[in-house]
Amino acid sequence: MEIKSFEKKIWLASPTMHGDEQKWVDEAIQTNWVSTVGANINSVEEDIAKTVGTKYAVALSCGTAALHLAVKLAGERIYGMPKPNEGTLKGKTIFCSDMTFDATANPIAYEDGEAVFIDSERDTWNMDPVALEKAFEMYPDTKIVMLAHLYGTPAKFDEIKAICDKFGALIVEDAAESLGATYKSKQTGALGDYNCISFNGNKIITGSSGGMFLTNSKEDADKVRKWSTQSREDAAWYQHEEIGYNYRMSNIVAGVVRGQLPYLSEHVLAKKAIYERYKEGFKGLPVTMNPYDEANNEPNFWLSCLLINEDAMCKQVRGEKDALYIHEQGKTCPTEILEKLAKYNAEGRPIWKPMHMQPIYRNNPFVTVNGNGRARSNAYIAENGCVDVGADIFARGLCLPSDNKMTAEEQEIIIQIIRSCFE
Ligand SMILES: *Cc1c(COP(=O)(O)O)cnc(C)c1O
Repeated sequence: MEIKSFEKKIWLASPTMHGDEQKWVDEAIQTNWVSTVGANINSVEEDIAKTVGTKYAVALSCGTAALHLAVKLAGERIYGMPKPNEGTLKGKTIFCSDMTFDATANPIAYEDGEAVFIDSERDTWNMDPVALEKAFEMYPDTKIVMLAHLYGTPAKFDEIKAICDKFGALIVEDAAESLGATYKSKQTGALGDYNCISFNGNKIITGSSGGMFLTNSKEDADKVRKWSTQSREDAAWYQHEEIGYNYRMSNIVAGVVRGQLPYLSEHVLAKKAIYERYKEGFKGLPVTMNPYDEANNEPNFWLSCLLINEDAMCKQVRGEKDALYIHEQGKTCPTEILEKLAKYNAEGRPIWKPMHMQPIYRNNPFVTVNGNGRARSNAYIAENGCVDVGADIFARGLCLPSDNKMTAEEQEIIIQIIRSCFE
């Protein structure tokens, strides 16, 4: 079959606007409420809290800001106010999802803490409860766990929560990628002690940017709101007792979020249809899709991903910034598929490179089901049971074009392109 390049690029995940966004942005400008106070902010805080199922939502400039203030708050609740000029987590270890975007982990460093990365399991690609329990045995003083739901698939929350309860640890939930996903009928973003979502341009709904901190505690919501507006005290002049941040959402951004929110479930349905079409389209190929617990959970299917079977992987070598492969008949690798997609003007992406493999975090501990993942010389040992699951999924997996404006016909061509890589 002759395949022609896409005239219009097929994106991994791009914003999908509906028109209502303009209305709320215009209203903000016409009424002159363009800064960090206004009707759009109030409305989206109320609506998101209702949608996700928390009592309070605090609108912030981005998801990273929400994660920063969430982990800072967790630190203050456990360790107390830090000394001036010291992070709240100084000298503390924090357990963190390993296969995630770096915005999950960086806020730990902002507060001078040390992230201990926990390997992923194969059922949802999220934090492995077995490795987490190992980590508590190795670092029993740890009191905070940063948990991400990768690609919109809920992690094994009950197992993780039970371990955290046993060791008296709080959970900061990073639901940046999973807004609209449910875990045992509860929305992600409402599961942890301190929860965060994102409205970045590539997420399931967007505000162009933006994020939120979610909680059931009024005191915590008030604290985060205060920190996010420069920690101003109630005085006639600028009075400060704590370090502040300029992290509040603008009423313009909130206008975009307000226009998007009514379409959240429509976006989730479109993403699910994409996932199902890929699953059907790859039948017979030596691959699997990013897995989830079908009995209990409903992901938001933000990104559809592919994992190539071990015995169908051609030779692939990755350096720090480049990748090479040698094509073999009947076999392929993520690098080959991504190059081929790019050739036809479609955007895929490698799986998020695990944090323990990132140069910036090369000295941080990494715990696998076997214990200390840093103790081994090989990055990935498949045969003896000593497996670095994150490195393995990174090597064999990729994110597929998952834009919900992609038509079924366009997706069929993507599937054909990927099939041709196995020839
Ligand atoms: C996008 C993302 C964030 C950060 O959100 P921003 O709004 O871009 O700051 C955090 N964690 C994960 C897992 C993300 O995918």
